[in-house]
Amino acid sequence: MVAKKHLNSPFLIPVREIAHRSGEMREHDIEVAAPEQWGEGLVSVPQGEPVQIDVRLESVHEGILVTAEVATRMVGVCGRCLTDIAQPVEVEFQELFGYPGGEANDFEVQDDHVDLETPVRDSIVLSLPFQPVCQPDCPGLDPSTGVKLTDSAEPETPIDPRWAALQALTPDHDDTAQRRAADDTEKS
Ligand SMILES: [Zn+2]
Repeated sequence: MVAKKHLNSPFLIPVREIAHRSGEMREHDIEVAAPEQWGEGLVSVPQGEPVQIDVRLESVHEGILVTAEVATRMVGVCGRCLTDIAQPVEVEFQELFGYPGGEANDFEVQDDHVDLETPVRDSIVLSLPFQPVCQPDCPGLDPSTGVKLTDSAEPETPIDPRWAALQALTPDHDDTAQRRAADDTEKS
């Protein structure tokens, strides 16, 4: 027996109008905030993150057939280079919410409502990648230095800026200009 959810849960969708009326159908587009962090891996859906649910409720003989498209956002780090990432997550699921007293189902219609929280959460958590990447071909970190290889892949400047600064300070590099500057100081 599943414990009853608090009646004002935003995941509760009323089905009184279509319950026990096979063939009836309703559609809802709802947005809820993730009530807690979903996922424990390198990426997860943060608590409070908006979750879009486009749900179709079909009354069938055994109960209410729920088909949903769910869209939200996962945040975390790239599994190769540890860069922070935030990427969209989109999943679909279909679950039958059976009528109480009918055949055993994972989900039941309760108090003329279906509670989408568990199937929404489970379908999202199952879709989160174990090895998320910031980009499909992320080269990861240099095994010896630990430096991010995407950064060093940029074209290198011909002269290191520190070396260029040293060159300007070398006396015989721009001899004439330096002597002229020294002359000016002596005259004033
Ligand atoms: Zn990466």
